[in-house]
Amino acid sequence: MNFIEDWKRKKEQAGQRDRELVKKLKRKKGKQLDEAADGVHEQVFKDIDCLECASCCTSIPPIVNKTDAVRISKKLGMKTVEFEKEYLVVDEDGDTVMNVSPCPFLQTDNACLIYEIRPKACRQFPHTDNMDFSKNMKLHVMNATICPGVFHILRRLESVV
Ligand code: SF4
Ligand code: SF4
Repeated sequence: MNFIEDWKRKKEQAGQRDRELVKKLKRKKGKQLDEAADGVHEQVFKDIDCLECASCCTSIPPIVNKTDAVRISKKLGMKTVEFEKEYLVVDEDGDTVMNVSPCPFLQTDNACLIYEIRPKACRQFPHTDNMDFSKNMKLHVMNATICPGVFHILRRLESVV
């Protein structure tokens, strides 16, 4: 099965099903759920090539914190203040994010121009590994419509509830 194509066909119908699933998953102990999700994350992402997808980089402007801005601007040979002016904006939630979507650092082959020094938010997305799953339950429902990985992780977790 091509996970990305399968997700494209099914993602629109996922919302209600995932809200119900997340309610059931919340009844499980956080650590137990995080361990299960971490294992499933690894299996699912073995079968997904993010370079064939780039949906996150094209649809959600990542949060760029001050540490990210300092690190990235230094590497680009810019003053941090110039980098902030050119690339960042404060959104309606008060978060500092990239000012355009698709991300200005996404290249035509879907590779990230600043991959090694990318923002922390990009490194952590989609929050389904590293024992991070149970802290982000509401987010998973939304991210299942953005990320084929999250969609398929939720499908596999349906068997543990
Ligand atoms: S910085 Fe890189 S990984 Fe993050 S959204 Fe932009 S292209 Fe994607
Ligand atoms: S949306 Fe998910 S599968 Fe697609 S590139 Fe981002 S992390 Fe990878």
